[in-house]
Parts: sequence; structure tokens; C-alpha cells
Amino acid sequence: MEANQMPLDSFNREIDYLRISVIDRCNLRCVYCMPLNGIRFLPKAELLTPAEIEAVVRAAVSVGFRKFRLTGGEPTLRLDLLEIVERIARVPGVGELALTTNAILMRELAGSLKAAGLSRVNVHLDSLNPVTVDRQMRGATFAQIWQGIEACEAAGLTPIKINAVVTAGYNEADVVELARLTLARDWHVRFIELMPLGGGECATLSVKRYVSNIETRRRIEAALGPLIALEGASSSDEARNFSLAGGRGVIGFISPVSEPYCGSCNRMRLTADGKFHLCLLNDDELDVRRALRSAREDGLDEVARILLRAVELKPTGHHLLNGRSTRERSMYQIGG
Ligand code: SAM
Ligand code: SF4
Repeated sequence: MEANQMPLDSFNREIDYLRISVIDRCNLRCVYCMPLNGIRFLPKAELLTPAEIEAVVRAAVSVGFRKFRLTGGEPTLRLDLLEIVERIARVPGVGELALTTNAILMRELAGSLKAAGLSRVNVHLDSLNPVTVDRQMRGATFAQIWQGIEACEAAGLTPIKINAVVTAGYNEADVVELARLTLARDWHVRFIELMPLGGGECATLSVKRYVSNIETRRRIEAALGPLIALEGASSSDEARNFSLAGGRGVIGFISPVSEPYCGSCNRMRLTADGKFHLCLLNDDELDVRRALRSAREDGLDEVARILLRAVELKPTGHHLLNGRSTRERSMYQIGG
């Protein structure tokens, strides 16, 4: 393959989007993602450094990647996040650089992240009801997240995208008020179906508390009227997008269980400890940290070769309907 052409995987999917987890720690303990106790986090020495992350991005651009996203754990807990953003944003060929965050620290960080070159954010908020937020996103207050979102908007990290994971017995009725936000605001509010990852208590909860987006859509339409399908989304957008009549924003449904989108998946993932994770819902990985830390002169070429190999090996299909996905890693160790 020539440099800068988008890499194709063995199912002819164009893979041009790299999601980079920068840390596995988090300041919250969402019920479907992180248990309250018994977590062993990566020691600092195992995390990729800003220079190593930049090296992977340079290699990725050289083989045709254009879109990048920082995630975690909670990426804003990395004290060197600004340096990471600055380094990536100045790599020629980087098209978009986004961040997925719970926004708790964005009141302090939004302006400087924008100045460092961040394009936009996806903010995780499961409800507008403070009691539900407290129960479901353990450790957060609604006010903290809301102020973080407002800071992102004021800093121009737009369009604001909100991600809500719909969880039976927690926020399944709150989807209506979240969807209603799109009437007055040009935000994207996206509803995500629960996925079980990692096999622990959060995976068990994710199976038991699963709500289909078919049901979520029905609930929203019953309260707010029919949704209008939006054309023109990119074929690799994992969300099916709609609007409310007269609404300014977008309502999206991300439905890996009820409507899998593996056929149009365009992404590769890099874990905080330097593995290419080939598919969110599968344990297959290729190590890249060893190549980054070797003293070899062709280190960058080797990183690009490993990435192309990862693209070639990327699987398709999943076993969510049987309640199975990864065994080795949980969501906070991959980045979603
Ligand atoms: N801490 C940041 C956040 O919450 O946005 C970034 C990392 S978090 C792992 C990324 C995304 O994964 C979030 O949007 C979250 O809602 C989603 N997520 C976590 N656990 C999930 C699960 N079991 N099923 C579906 N989505 C999940
Ligand atoms: Fe933290 Fe995000 Fe996981 Fe919630 S979903 S525990 S905010 S990493």
C-alpha cells in the first residue's frame, strides 16, 4: 500500500480512525464500567508517554489514518494531557482530534485544550436527574458535568456530543429529557446500548440491565413525537441519526446489540499500555510498545508495520447476543 492511502482490512473496510486510550484510571465508577473495589491500575511506567503517543500518531498518519480520539479511563486525569494534545495536533495530516470525557474537570481544562488543538468533545452524561447521575455514574454530581459541558461549548469544542448509556432500573425513563435537549440546542444526544466487557460484575450488570434502542426510541417518540431520519451521515458513523420536528440538534442511537455496525467499522484502538486492540468486543491485540521502546533506528517504520498488520488482522462480528465479548479487558481498559 502507498503511504497516505487509507488502509483496507481483510473485509475491505477503510480503517482511518484511531482511538487512543491514555490512562485506565477514572474519577468515577459508572455501574456498567468500573467496580467500586478490587481494581488494579497500570503502573505509570507502563503508560505510553506523550512522545510515544505522538510517534504512533505519526506512523498512523503515514499509513492513511486521519481521525484521532483520546479516551480512557478518564483522559483528563493525565496531568500531561495538554502536551499529548499539542503533540498530536501539530502532526501534519491529522484531520480531527476529539476527546471522550465525563467532563468533570473540563471547567478548568476546556479553554487550554482548545488552544492546544483539540477539535471537539463527546461528554458522557447518563441523565439530567441529579439523583440518577449520583446512582449510575458513582462519584459525579450532575452540576459538575453540566458546568463542564458549558465550559466545552464556551471554548468552541463543538458540536457538543452527549453519550448516555441506557441502563434498566437506572436511567431508562430519563432518555426523554435528554432527547428534549436537542429541541433548543444544536447538540448531538446519543443513546448507547449496554455491552458486557471483561467478564466481571460490570459485565454481568450490562447483560441484566440491557435496554434495546428500539425501546428507547419508542419511549422518546411516545413523549416527543416522531423522529425524522437524517440523511448524509458518514457510512462509518456508528450512530443512526434523527431529529425532532423543529429541533436544532441530533438524536443518535448506537446499537451494537440490536443493530450491529461491524460491517462499517473504521476504527483501530490503542490501549494506554501500548497494544493495538483490534476490535472493542474481542481480546486480540498486537503489542507496539516494545517497538516504540526499542533503540532501533527504523522504530517508526516498525510501528507503521505493526499497525498495518493490526488492520489486516482486524476481525468482524461479535457474540453480544450470547452475552460474550472480551475476557481480558474491561471498557475502562480499552476506552469504548
Ligand atoms: N471516561 C470517559 C467517558 O466516560 O466518556 C471515557 C472512557 S468511557 C470507557 C467511554 C465510553 O464508554 C463512555 O461513553 C461510556 O458511556 C461507555 N461505556 C462504558 N461502559 C459501557 C458499557 N458497559 N456498555 C456500553 N458503553 C459503555
Ligand atoms: Fe469512568 Fe468513563 Fe468508565 Fe464512567 S464510563 S467509569 S466515566 S471510564
